[in-house]
Amino acid sequence: MSETGADRHVVIIGASLAGTRTAQGLRTHGHTGRITLIGAEDELPYDRPPLSKELLTSDWSDESVAGVRLVTQAELDDLDIDLRLGVAATGLDLDTRTVDLADGTGVAYDVLVIATGAGARPSPWNPPSGVLQLRTLADSRAIAERLALQEPVVVVGGGFIGTEIAAAAIGFGCAVTVVDPVAEPMTRLVGAEIAGALVELHRDNGAVTRFGVGVTDIRGEAGDLTVVLDDGSELRASTAIVGIGSVANTGWLEDSSLTIANGVVTDPYLRAIGTEGVYAIGDVARWPHPGHGTDIRAEHWTNASDQARYVATAITQGVSAPFDSADYVWSDQYAWKVHSVGRRDAAGTSIVVGDLDADGRVAVIHADADGIACGAVTVNWVRALNQVRRLLAAGRPAADIVDELGLRAA
Ligand SMILES: Cc1cc2nc3c(=O)[nH]c(=O)nc-3n(C[C@H](O)[C@H](O)[C@H](O)COP(=O)(O)OP(=O)(O)OC[C@H]3O[C@@H](n4cnc5c(N)ncnc54)[C@H](O)[C@@H]3O)c2cc1C
Repeated sequence: MSETGADRHVVIIGASLAGTRTAQGLRTHGHTGRITLIGAEDELPYDRPPLSKELLTSDWSDESVAGVRLVTQAELDDLDIDLRLGVAATGLDLDTRTVDLADGTGVAYDVLVIATGAGARPSPWNPPSGVLQLRTLADSRAIAERLALQEPVVVVGGGFIGTEIAAAAIGFGCAVTVVDPVAEPMTRLVGAEIAGALVELHRDNGAVTRFGVGVTDIRGEAGDLTVVLDDGSELRASTAIVGIGSVANTGWLEDSSLTIANGVVTDPYLRAIGTEGVYAIGDVARWPHPGHGTDIRAEHWTNASDQARYVATAITQGVSAPFDSADYVWSDQYAWKVHSVGRRDAAGTSIVVGDLDADGRVAVIHADADGIACGAVTVNWVRALNQVRRLLAAGRPAADIVDELGLRAA
């Protein structure tokens, strides 16, 4: 299902997880032609999950920062990957097969991989200072510097990233309030069975939650902010961190004739619609997910990594099957390890196994309307997670998982 030819010039735009893993995968699969990896950030490729977790709370030594790099310059040299950093792609001409760059040059491709990811959804509230967002290494460092002051913090957004930052802020010794207009914001991510327990976890650790109320304004400046809520109340903070989702980085493609709709739209083989020799992968791609029966844009590490591997194979060897996602995502919430795999079926059922209070672990197994396992969320229970992944792949009934775990459903 794809053109092959080991001597073609593959240009990859976006030098982060998806882009870097594609470049490495091409060489693993024997691609001998040129590989050019172009990134807007002036940083060797690095991993993002640690930015809200271990790196955020680290000592920020050279060693800590080196630990989040996805690759070294020496490894890139060995693989003969031409990495160009600090230069953004600004346009794409599909007729001449050329990408325009911010430095005024252009780069011609035989095959193009779009891996420009996503950016933090911009904060609607922008006082002169004190409001921060998290997407990059520099953002994480700036947040760590503010948290080290141990002054009051308001986190706007109760999703995974917001709550991970809140947990880090508590660890620094800050007074923390998390605000979200949704009453149980993590329900969308982990389901109602576990979302409530996560809220309790944050409260038990000392975070104040203001859920079900939105922010209408943030005034003042760093060190003296007022966060105004839509119930009329006001919160004082030294720093506000706004984590309200992400937006696909597609601005540079606006004048191309690619189909852009909340991401670069692709076919089931991750090939951009409306042209040839162009793939889109990772957080920027929106593709028809076979399990969901609709187009989705995933914002998960494993998806970006798996899509990179798939496209590297497609370019070098061709692929016969459409891309299928494991739908695997994780989050660290204080000492809890939360994992989600597969999906929840609105027409199906869920079985709760274990008890967080009694056992310190729980699994919620999702079945489709026919009782076949289609997903699960686990907390502190890696064995259950692995079991589910195996049974999901085998298309087994959800009840089998409960039996195999040797536990009675709660
Ligand atoms: C703080 C944080 C914590 C996370 N934690 C988890 C987690 O626990 N579990 C999980 O599953 N996922 C997590 N994620 C999500 C995961 O990191 C992403 O899914 C993954 O980074 C996507 O990789 P990507 O390469 O597609 O895009 P990105 O990582 O967004 O990289 C895209 C790159 O392209 C560059 N770029 C953008 N536009 C241009 C342009 N025009 N020209 C050139 N370069 C450009 C960007 O600068 C960036 O370097 C987290 C994300 C963040 C931000």
